[in-house]
Amino acid sequence: MTSPAKAQYLLRFDDLCPTMSRAGWERFVPLLLRFDVKPILAIVPANQDPDLIVDAPHAGFWHEMRDWQELGATIGLHGYRHVCAAWGRGLIPLHDQTEFAGVQKGLQQEWIRSGMVALLGHGLEPRIWVAPRHGFDRVTLEVLREEGLGLVSDGFARQPFLDGGVTWIPQQLWGPREKKEGVWTICLHANTATDVSVKELARFLERFAGQFTSVQQVLAEWPERERTASDRWFHARLMGKIGFDRWRRSVMR
Ligand SMILES: [Zn+2]
Repeated sequence: MTSPAKAQYLLRFDDLCPTMSRAGWERFVPLLLRFDVKPILAIVPANQDPDLIVDAPHAGFWHEMRDWQELGATIGLHGYRHVCAAWGRGLIPLHDQTEFAGVQKGLQQEWIRSGMVALLGHGLEPRIWVAPRHGFDRVTLEVLREEGLGLVSDGFARQPFLDGGVTWIPQQLWGPREKKEGVWTICLHANTATDVSVKELARFLERFAGQFTSVQQVLAEWPERERTASDRWFHARLMGKIGFDRWRRSVMR
């Protein structure tokens, strides 16, 4: 198997639910259609997070998500209720409080099962786990494996890897950046889209649309391999950089 020589980009939209910002989401839709992008749509199955209640529930939301699934988008299970009240330390510790990290197994299992049942009930097939605020732990991985959802969109590395019995497709960017090689997932939030972020994506797609990929294509093109020392080094470096940037922002405030 030969992996692609040039960098590949995956687009991921988080916090999708019937009460998200319609206007925010609809700004991205023409771009996705024009450039035939097959994104990860990370859907909150039973939202109870007040931050994600921007508009009145949109009656056509689930239908629209089914249409995207038909067009080749990958449906992500974005937690269960998106209520981040747990204090456990997760595997990607970017936030103090998350929905899943540190929660006992029985509850994690109940939430993941209920979330999957809810999405399936809407005619959507969840294929990848996207934890709210990157919050999940080894217990989550165990539950995901048991529930047959062995794919995670998270982690800092340059290419997919196996860890904890599930495949990780790394997510390292929160806006488009040109890269030389590897698989880069760009995470965007429709709720907080600005003119600048939409224009930035449009310009990036004009240059690199040919290097945008899908979850299916990534799984077909990249070898299955265990997490390596170089993956761990990449993770440590990026965590250090994020920590330093936060510290700098906090002292400069
Ligand atoms: Zn979220």
